[in-house]
Amino acid sequence: MTQLSKRITNIPESATLAMTAKAREMREKGVDVISLSIGEPDFKTPKHIQQGAINAINEEKYFAYPPVNGYLDLRQAISEKFKRENNLEYSPDQIVVSNGAKQSIANVFMAILDPGDEVIVFTPYWVSYSAMILLAEGSPVFVNGSFENDFKVTAEQLEAAITSKTKAVIFSSPCNPTGSVFTNDELEKISGVLRQHPEIVIVADEIYEHINFSGKHVSIGALEGMQDRTVTVNGFSKGFAMTGWRVGYIGAPTWIAKASNKMQGQYTSGNCSISQRAALAALNGPLDATIEMTKAYRSRRQLVYDLLKEIPGFEVNMPEGAFYFFPNVKSYIGKSNNGITINSVGDLCMFLLEDAHVSLVTGEAFGDPDCLRLSYAASEDDLRTAIANMKESLAKLS
Ligand code: PMP
Ligand code: GLU
Repeated sequence: MTQLSKRITNIPESATLAMTAKAREMREKGVDVISLSIGEPDFKTPKHIQQGAINAINEEKYFAYPPVNGYLDLRQAISEKFKRENNLEYSPDQIVVSNGAKQSIANVFMAILDPGDEVIVFTPYWVSYSAMILLAEGSPVFVNGSFENDFKVTAEQLEAAITSKTKAVIFSSPCNPTGSVFTNDELEKISGVLRQHPEIVIVADEIYEHINFSGKHVSIGALEGMQDRTVTVNGFSKGFAMTGWRVGYIGAPTWIAKASNKMQGQYTSGNCSISQRAALAALNGPLDATIEMTKAYRSRRQLVYDLLKEIPGFEVNMPEGAFYFFPNVKSYIGKSNNGITINSVGDLCMFLLEDAHVSLVTGEAFGDPDCLRLSYAASEDDLRTAIANMKESLAKLS
């Protein structure tokens, strides 16, 4: 009999991290694997941000526990950023800094969900949303955006999914894994539905806001009537190439911010002091490096789009943000090679890992078992080689 809790046995391992660990293992054995499985900028953290951390160490003032919700000057800078860039009004005491946006979202679900509470999850969704809702004993309700609508859920679909048990709605825009970006008009329509249900909390994950090729980022919290019920999630991992520093944050209604603070006060204490000083340097510094990185993602997007379009059986949308493609590859299901049959996209990803030495993630982990996710946060050379190898391996399947 297992001694583990139902809580932990009922959730899957994070598929993005599991696939990346597999690629790492193969590399350690000497196989030259190209990892397109994890959403991680391949750029270095900009120098002025590194310097923020170096200065903090040299000043010898930041070695003690920081405040649980983050240093006041960092929360002030985040509050100003929200105002300046997103037209959002969150005072510093409505901000909680955490160990990555991942912990920010986990805190919120732990803070607001009781058993049986439903959370509407726009699908395809970022892999960890469902597990986090389940860990908080809530029930995820998946609403599928169609391929034809760029995977975006419509206001009508949202309206049809709302029940008396709906506690929250979560989505990311720009979206991981599809790269889709909600327009102002689409968010207005979604807000129109939510205005009829003032008790529902909106969790808007905006971690890819800077990696947007379609124009200006729109925050749903800035639309009429939304501010007081929207938790805006953001962080430094993507826009500032700071995945390892682990800094994320929320701006939230005061009752949720206080509860998140209480949650992390029991679980982790405050976020790493030196990382917070680096994050402050990121907010106080110029966005030039972020803009340059986004330019590079834009040109890789075109490259990858052109290459993926040439693979038979791949149906590809042009993503408008983030750094992922989410092609529909269901035409490969049922095919085989050398006694190996592809029964699912998970099998296809394993085949591509072993045969093409490219790691990808099955769409099943994101709520769409017909697709796979490819991260193009990699060099152009690696992208060209990886896609050529994939094409060659896929041609063996019949
Ligand atoms: N939200 C989305 C949509 C993501 O892709 C990620 C992955 N980085 C996160 C949240 C969490 O980011 P982090 O914990 O690195 O800040
Ligand atoms: N968010 C990234 C991804 O989707 C990082 C991995 C993770 O945190 O799950 O690949």
